[in-house]
Amino acid sequence: MWTRFSLLVLCLLLEVQGQDHADGRYIRCQYTFTVDSPVESSCNNAMEAENLSARVTLLEAVVSRVLGAEAVPETARTLEETEEIRQLLQEKEQLDVQVKELQRRVEELTLETEKLRERPCSSVTKAFQEVKAEVSELPTSPKVQKNVQQDAGCGELVSVSEPETHQKASSISGKYGMWFQGNESPGAPYGPDTVWRIDTVRNDVRELYAYENLEQLARGYPLKVLVLPEPMESTGATVYRGSLYYQQKRSPTLLRYDLIEEKIAAQRELPHPGFHGQYPYSWGGYTDIDLAADEKGLWAIYSTEKARGAIVISQLDPDTLRVTRSWKTNIQKNKVANAFMVCGRLYTVASYRANSTTINWSFDTTSEQSKTVDVPFRNRYGYNSMIDYNAARRKLYSWDNFHMVTYNVTLAKSGSSP
Ligand code: CA
Repeated sequence: MWTRFSLLVLCLLLEVQGQDHADGRYIRCQYTFTVDSPVESSCNNAMEAENLSARVTLLEAVVSRVLGAEAVPETARTLEETEEIRQLLQEKEQLDVQVKELQRRVEELTLETEKLRERPCSSVTKAFQEVKAEVSELPTSPKVQKNVQQDAGCGELVSVSEPETHQKASSISGKYGMWFQGNESPGAPYGPDTVWRIDTVRNDVRELYAYENLEQLARGYPLKVLVLPEPMESTGATVYRGSLYYQQKRSPTLLRYDLIEEKIAAQRELPHPGFHGQYPYSWGGYTDIDLAADEKGLWAIYSTEKARGAIVISQLDPDTLRVTRSWKTNIQKNKVANAFMVCGRLYTVASYRANSTTINWSFDTTSEQSKTVDVPFRNRYGYNSMIDYNAARRKLYSWDNFHMVTYNVTLAKSGSSP
C-alpha cells in the first residue's frame, strides 16, 4: 500500500536585514505542502493539485520579493548588504529548484488525477454511472412506452402457475371477496404497489381497504379505509388507472369511483344486462356482471336476455363507461366458474370448487372466435369467488375461500400459438 507522504518545504528562512536588522527582527516564511498518496487521496488529487499549484504561485511571489532587493543601486549598499544579497540570490536559486520540483509534482498529480477519473474510484462514481444509465433508458413518453411494452408481450395464455397465498381473511365477511393491486400510483397517499381489498360477505358492501403493499396486507395493517358512496354487488369489480369500477347493488348501473377524489366520477347503465341473480357464474353470488381490465382496456363480462345466458363482452370507455363495442360468445355464463380478459381474449375457468380444474374456453375479440383450451388451474382452498387479471404484473389475483392468492401467467410469444 501507498503510504501517506508529505512534502514539507520549509526553512525558506529569509533573513532580511535592511533597516530592521539592527532591531533584531526577522521575517520568517515557512511553506508546508501536504500531498496524499494516490490511493488514499484518489478522488481528492485534483483538488490537492490545484492547492499545490496555488502555493507554488505564492512561493514565486516570495522569490520576486527577494529579487526586488537587487534593484537597490550597488553604490548605496554596504558590504553587509552586498553579502546579504549574495546569500539571498543563493537561496533564490535553491527556491527555483524547489519550484521546478513542485511543478513537476503538480504535473504528475494532474496526470494521476486524470487516470483515476477514468476508472471507478468510489461508490459515488459507481452510483453516478448507474443513474446515468437509468436516465439514458428513460422513455420519452412513459405512457406510450408502457402501452408498447404491454402490447409487445401479448399472446395467448399458455400456463398458470400454482397459487401464491398472501393473506387469509380472519372473519366470515372475508369468505368471499375481491382484491387488486395497482401498477402505478393513482396519487398520494398511494404508491405503485398499493393493494385494494373488499370483503363481500355483508349486507352493504362499501368498505374498501387500501394497504401500502403486499407486506402490509400480510401484516393486516391498512393504510386507509374508504367508504364507497354507493354499495356494490357481487365480486366483479376491478381497479384500473386510478379508479375502482363496480356494479351498483341491485342495479344494472356501473360506477367509476375515483380513488384520489374519493367520489363517483362516472356512472352509466350497461345495455340490458342480467343482474342480481339472473345470469351469474356457476357459484351464484349475484355474479352477473364481471368487470375486467387487460392490455387492451376495460371490459364488462355479462349476459342478456337476447343472448339467452351466453357471455356477452363489452369494451367500455374507461372515462365515461360508455360501451364502445360488444361481442356475443357461445359460452354459457352459468356453466363456468369465473372469467377474465388477457390481451383482448376472454378466458373462463371450469370449476370454482375442484382443486384441479382448467381454463376451458377462450374467446378472441379480434378474430371473434371462441375455442376450447385446456390450461390447468388450481383452486387450492376449494371455493374460488373472484379471478381478475393484472396486465402490468402478468398475474391473476384471486379470492379463494378466505385466501387472497396470485397466480403467475405465461403468455405465448406474439405470433406463436400455444
Ligand atoms: Ca372476474
